[in-house]
Amino acid sequence: MFNTLSDRLTSVLNNLRGKGRLSDADIDATAREIRVALLEADVALPVVRTFIAKVKERAKGAEVSQALNPAQQVVKIVNEELVAILGGETRRLNLAKNPPSVIMLAGLQGAGKTTLAGKLAKWLRGQGHTPMLVACDLQRPNAVTQLQVVGERAGVPVFAPEPGNGVGDPVDVARRGIEEAKRAQHDIVLVDTAGRLGVDEEMMRQAIDIRAAVQPDEVLFVVDAMIGQDAVNTATAFRDGVGFTGVVLTKLDGDARGGAALSVREVTGQPILFASNGEKLEDFDVFHPDRMASRILGMGDMLTLIEQAEQAFDAEQAEAAAMKMGSGQLTLEDFLEQMLTLRKMGPIANLLGMLPGAGQMKDQLANLDEKHLDRVQAIIRGMTPAEREDPKIINASRRLRIANGSGVRVSDVNDLVNRFFEARKMMSQMAGRFGL
Ligand code: GDP
Repeated sequence: MFNTLSDRLTSVLNNLRGKGRLSDADIDATAREIRVALLEADVALPVVRTFIAKVKERAKGAEVSQALNPAQQVVKIVNEELVAILGGETRRLNLAKNPPSVIMLAGLQGAGKTTLAGKLAKWLRGQGHTPMLVACDLQRPNAVTQLQVVGERAGVPVFAPEPGNGVGDPVDVARRGIEEAKRAQHDIVLVDTAGRLGVDEEMMRQAIDIRAAVQPDEVLFVVDAMIGQDAVNTATAFRDGVGFTGVVLTKLDGDARGGAALSVREVTGQPILFASNGEKLEDFDVFHPDRMASRILGMGDMLTLIEQAEQAFDAEQAEAAAMKMGSGQLTLEDFLEQMLTLRKMGPIANLLGMLPGAGQMKDQLANLDEKHLDRVQAIIRGMTPAEREDPKIINASRRLRIANGSGVRVSDVNDLVNRFFEARKMMSQMAGRFGL
């Protein structure tokens, strides 16, 4: 799921790398390519439109960031908007104050409801609950048996109509199921309902009747993510029919384009609570919009880097340093501060390793010596405040003292001081050229 979309988005956003500034034309071109990528991934058109409009507006209005370059800023915006269309915050199950809580499952036949009932039951047990399953799918041959098998595997009891009494009334079974849960003190009841291959009136009627009879705390609409655009139509039909309070996406392990996952929440206004990604009971997880977005963007590490840069970065401090650089007044104290800021983000090799394309730089990264940075830090720390402020006063005897104090050779101190003077000269020349 999402592989093609991830590839496309990554390559669109990679094209922005290295650009110092993004013009409106750059942003428009990028937005157009993202639009095509989303449409090809089967995301519903209205969702694509809203998404693109927001990304464009934010990218054009973005202030120049001290911490991020323009490409990183666009990645950040795209990621945040992806999180938003996937629902923003992770939504937990609403449970009743007075147990049992009732959770009703609805959806088309084959969507994965029965399988999900088992997965959810097992997961709830793991959370310390004592769930019970109620088999109200009396339409599909074997549905009751299938739920019993699933229940057994999950280690939870299943309430089902006694065999041999004809088809039976699902509403009645649902009611009796809740009674039984109360009696046996189960704190959550999962009600599995019948689905059809397509939306039909009778099925919807039955679901509405069950909902009215059991007054569930949650109605979860279960939808197969592999059915593409149809997922949106089905979701709309269920929303307008029985109504639902949350969505469960199934078959996210499938080799499909993933547009359904990206559209359902925005189109129906209801959050996605869980995701199913395989046939086994364990293939199931709480749905986290932020994790899903970074998976879609295929830039997990890049996003971590952006977050860390923003956290470590103190805009005021940086601005002050930039001013000093321009005026040729940068001191070793400033230099040390900048270095510590950068190192707050983690080992430099890791930081560089997170940048795309770093794979080919593995050897250089392995040679990058954190110890060298430690040494530079130690040398500066071995200086007095006056020396850091005005390195020109560092004469031969001071160099010897600093070297002894910080456990390095005099030549290391010389190196650092000379390189610092060179760098400072270069910076003020550059600043002059750019009119800083
Ligand atoms: P129901 O008719 O809605 O109750 O659907 P079922 O639970 O019977 O599931 C229909 C088919 O989809 C079964 O073969 C399941 O094993 C399969 N299935 C359910 N969830 C998943 C999933 O997340 N991934 C995959 N690959 N298959 C699933």
